[in-house]
Amino acid sequence: MTAVVYVSDPIHPDVLNKVQSICTLRFGFGLSKVNYLDVADTVDAVILRGETFTSEMIARSPRLKIIARHGVGTDNVDLQAASEHGVWVTSTPGANSNAVAEHVFALLFSSARKLSSAQRAVVAGKWSEDKENLIGFELSGRTLGLIGFGSIGRRVAQMAVGLSMKVLVFDPYASAVDVEAAGAASVELDDLLRVCDVVSLHLPLLASTRHLLGRDQIALMKPSALVINTSRGGLIDEDALLAALDSGAIAGAALDVLEAENVDMRNPLPHSTLAAAEREGLTVTPHIAGQTIEAFLEAGNLAWESVQDVLSG
Ligand code: NAD
Repeated sequence: MTAVVYVSDPIHPDVLNKVQSICTLRFGFGLSKVNYLDVADTVDAVILRGETFTSEMIARSPRLKIIARHGVGTDNVDLQAASEHGVWVTSTPGANSNAVAEHVFALLFSSARKLSSAQRAVVAGKWSEDKENLIGFELSGRTLGLIGFGSIGRRVAQMAVGLSMKVLVFDPYASAVDVEAAGAASVELDDLLRVCDVVSLHLPLLASTRHLLGRDQIALMKPSALVINTSRGGLIDEDALLAALDSGAIAGAALDVLEAENVDMRNPLPHSTLAAAEREGLTVTPHIAGQTIEAFLEAGNLAWESVQDVLSG
């Protein structure tokens, strides 16, 4: 019997074609969208991106053998229910590390050269009037502080060294040898915050890392410093960050992730494009750091390989 694979959200078409060539597909998106619970009793494998996979969905899937998460992290899957029902849960760590690292530099260059303000000036018909407000700074020779030195942090370090930046790392679990081999140096968190021109976060959000950058930590930073967050919004106390931006205690922030994403105006950070554009020194992108064609293909292929491995026993 042909295996049935439920794909929750769009994935790279090349991967979809591979799945379709040997399996029956059920879609959680597009014109052929089905409600998962309506087909749950037929599904052998799930390729999951953003959708939340609940204990009810798992309990009503007697044939289900694997939930292959297309991306990093499995926080949208009820892992306990999966384990109780003997369902494998896999993810695709590293598939978008390069994409996220490149987005760090997209945010960094954009902030350093005030690209959002420059674009707004040109759209407003100002060519020379705003030029004195659009003086940027160069990354070469600046000090970049990486909090977290895993898959993404290491890639960012490599790129930063290529730009002649000095790189400092705070990661209690990283080997000093690895840090040095990357041309960086290990330091304590407070020291990193005191001396760095740019601080970029590359660690998981856990109970112990929530608000790792709070008011006291932000207060240690230089008034000229920039904060870049492509990890998880909860790592930064956003109220403290906004207060620091407003008072000039730090120069800027570029965030791809917020504590509460995709919700109305409850979030104190300006997640509407208009508000973000109006606040000098703040750039917000809507959680797109890992979204590139290359990362989609890699994550899709890895998820499909996991499905094949489990279905073939
Ligand atoms: P990883 O697991 O490879 O590395 C995480 C690193 O954080 C590890 O080296 C670990 O030792 C370190 N760490 C753990 N606790 C720490 C602490 N208290 N202080 C300092 N370092 C600590 O993870 P990764 O693949 O590099 O991903 C990093 C982050 O990026 C994750 O939060 C992930 O969810 C996020 N991410 C975001 C996007 C996006 O689209 N914005 C895409 C992929 C990953």
